[in-house]
Amino acid sequence: MKAIRFAETGGPEVLRLEDVEIAAPGAGQVRIRHEAIGVNFIDTYHRTGLYPLGLPSGLGMEAAGVVEAVGEGVTRFAVGDRAGYCSGPIGAYAEAQNVPADRAVKLPEGVSFDIAAAAMLKGMTARYLLRKTFPLQRGQVCVIHAAAGGVGQIAVQWAKHLGAGVIAVVGSDAKAEIARGLGADHTIVSTREQIAPRVREITGGEGADVVYDSVGKDTFDASLDSLKPLGMFVSFGNASGAAPPFAPGILSAKGSLFFTRPTLMHYTRTPALLQETADDLWGVMASGAVTVAAPAQYKLADAAQAHRDLEARKTTGSVVLAP
Ligand code: NDP
Repeated sequence: MKAIRFAETGGPEVLRLEDVEIAAPGAGQVRIRHEAIGVNFIDTYHRTGLYPLGLPSGLGMEAAGVVEAVGEGVTRFAVGDRAGYCSGPIGAYAEAQNVPADRAVKLPEGVSFDIAAAAMLKGMTARYLLRKTFPLQRGQVCVIHAAAGGVGQIAVQWAKHLGAGVIAVVGSDAKAEIARGLGADHTIVSTREQIAPRVREITGGEGADVVYDSVGKDTFDASLDSLKPLGMFVSFGNASGAAPPFAPGILSAKGSLFFTRPTLMHYTRTPALLQETADDLWGVMASGAVTVAAPAQYKLADAAQAHRDLEARKTTGSVVLAP
């Protein structure tokens, strides 16, 4: 089968389409024939080495498709089931992959493969951020960075669904338009506006209850300065580079703030937590509270171009690869 692999870390050019063998699924595994593969920012961290992998390696955490073989002991899936996964194993940029059955989820009837691959990792992330890390209450105000991106578009809609006020931070006027269309109450265009002073202005000087910051390095100070006393800084990504180390005293100086650096893996660490998270996501999608836009599509062979566009801030919403 065809798979994207890389032997050294670096730019998108290190990604190569190769022919590889795939074994029969082992005990507890299912083999999923991919119909759509999710592209996530974390894939770029693996490619550059920001999050190190043993090399050579495959790439990608997420795909949706059809179960074509089941390993010994698997009872929850049968050949022909529509299924997806978003927590690895690494190697989703391929025509198929063997996946532990307890890391896979069944896809609901009404959710296409493309939408599933667009929604699982990013939607489950939005879910744990908004409902578990800092459970948003009606009337609270949140700041969502990269609001027109994959995670961002889902998070904006979900936060509105929970009754929160949403200040969406984006990189361009076109993206601000998208965020407003999804229900954001206010937008801040980070390439020409100062984030923290605008958040203060919008909140009558008070600051936000929570900032969900996936940009990292470039927005760290602005996020700290956007919070009200006892506010929560949720630093969950590094799109501009890793957030800097800091002395805990800064949290008291800025208002006895809370800081957390969460990851989806811990919030879905057991099959029960994974299923609960997925069910909640499918539920808001089925009710219409969250609409996942049709993703930008690239061929598997063009994974490098997908990375270029994602890293150049050219994409909005989700990106998928077609095997
Ligand atoms: P996005 O579609 O959100 O793409 C990244 C966006 O980040 C860009 O479109 C851009 O939006 C913004 N950005 C700001 N500065 C930069 C920069 N210097 N370079 C590139 N992009 C920049 O990607 P995803 O939806 O896949 O992921 C969003 C973020 O969430 C990532 O940081 C990812 O690592 C993180 N994440 C974390 C998880 C966790 O559990 N911790 C799980 C899933 C995702 P704009 O132009 O509007 O600024």
